[in-house]
Amino acid sequence: MDNYIPVNPFTIGFDLKTGISQEAQSTKRPLSKMSGMYNDTDAFQEILEKEDPVVYEFYELKIPNTDKDLLFGTSITYPGKVGKEYYMTKGHFHEVLDTAEVYYTLSGEGYMLMETPEGEWTAEPLSAGKAVYVPPRWAHRSINTGNIPLITFFTFRGDAGHDYGTIEQKGYRRLIVEGKDGKPEIIENPKWKQ
Ligand code: ZN
Repeated sequence: MDNYIPVNPFTIGFDLKTGISQEAQSTKRPLSKMSGMYNDTDAFQEILEKEDPVVYEFYELKIPNTDKDLLFGTSITYPGKVGKEYYMTKGHFHEVLDTAEVYYTLSGEGYMLMETPEGEWTAEPLSAGKAVYVPPRWAHRSINTGNIPLITFFTFRGDAGHDYGTIEQKGYRRLIVEGKDGKPEIIENPKWKQ
């Protein structure tokens, strides 16, 4: 990139308990913006008839979208369920598929549900003090299975971009739902589209 303009060094704060930054703008994802992503469409409609809760929000900084830079910020997924399915982020592949990401959990608990275009999948546990490595090619979605906000710090290559469309159309191969014993259970997604 010939016209690369570097950013100056800077420091920014993210609250350890809330993930909120006083110095950045958050992007909020209300439930109404997640149409078709939850398996139980009746439960989805029922909630929306009463309210439109914020399912998650994230702070992503304005850093040049180049392969020289690192984007970073925090993601806050709130506790809740749609039917038996826990609140989660939309999940995405990177537009530049061969780019990785690191997530470090500040508070809360849940899973990073990941899958590759070829059909491999895994659910890595997220808990305070632990980092998850998302290798290149793996779609990733944060799922809050606890009672408090799930707060993660993330960083990835500046030009990676977000491909939300693939997950919006096909869904994930697996879902994480509350099981009969009240504990998280990983099940096949009956609505997954090949
Ligand atoms: Zn990502």
